[in-house]
Amino acid sequence: MVATENQYRILLYYKYVPIENPVAFADEHRAFCQELGVKGRILVSHEGVNGTISGTVEQTQKYMDYMHQHPLFHDMTFKVDEYHKHAFKKLFVRPKKELVTWRLEEDVNPSETTGKRLSPKEFYELLQRDDVIVVDGRNDYEYDIGHFRNAIRPDVKTTREFPEWIRKNLSQYKDKKIITYCTGGIRCEKLTAFMLKEGFKDVAQLDGGIVTYAKDPEVKGKLFYGKCYVFDERISVPINQEEDVVVGKCYHCGKPEDRYINCEYDMCHKQHICCPECEEKYQGYCSKECEEKDLVKYEG
Ligand SMILES: [Zn+2]
Ligand SMILES: [Zn+2]
Repeated sequence: MVATENQYRILLYYKYVPIENPVAFADEHRAFCQELGVKGRILVSHEGVNGTISGTVEQTQKYMDYMHQHPLFHDMTFKVDEYHKHAFKKLFVRPKKELVTWRLEEDVNPSETTGKRLSPKEFYELLQRDDVIVVDGRNDYEYDIGHFRNAIRPDVKTTREFPEWIRKNLSQYKDKKIITYCTGGIRCEKLTAFMLKEGFKDVAQLDGGIVTYAKDPEVKGKLFYGKCYVFDERISVPINQEEDVVVGKCYHCGKPEDRYINCEYDMCHKQHICCPECEEKYQGYCSKECEEKDLVKYEG
């Protein structure tokens, strides 16, 4: 492929590796990214880095080369998607306490212990076994537009709610074989580490997440139904190359749909699945109340 100015890429990556001074690292990294012209969100913590950025083919190539020359990130795996423009409006490079916010009373360190890593093919084979429990490591709204067949839906809005949800809902599976997955793999690092610490005997994670599974030439995204939620302006991406199943339902009419919109009323902004007909009918509002409140605002 010939690189032109219209060709962009989206990179998704993380690595759990100790970083001594996250604040200084973030400052230096931000300066480099600004100079390069990439956009997106990069988190830096004592635990490592987690990023998703967009840029031209040339910019993203320079970014990957830069990271691969860095002593801490020489073996970093980048998931690369083609796109026609930037997928982010701004650049944020932020020091944070944790890469994924769990706030455990007693933290677990994925660079020491974590669940066994499964290749897409191994994961695909285990998905077809009746005795294997499949746990989605993402939030409920991500599950609702697409997930692996028979996966358990986590009743959580943020990762912070996982410990309680796991203790309440998964304890009966402590002796079972459990496999977990998330978008790019990072959330399963701590999820599986936590589960092992809680006494689950056999916990494994999909290496590289759903986006890596989608690109595997052998499994072709099979047994993933619906779309995969992503945290950039695309909102969702197709995964299954053989079957196009819609698993989401319109918030208003219940019709199969996997498109998310945000409520037109700024004070609400509720993200909800909405079919094109209902978007027109309800003018993008999630409820009558929101529509009325928004009108009052204009009427003063
Ligand atoms: Zn509808
Ligand atoms: Zn609303």
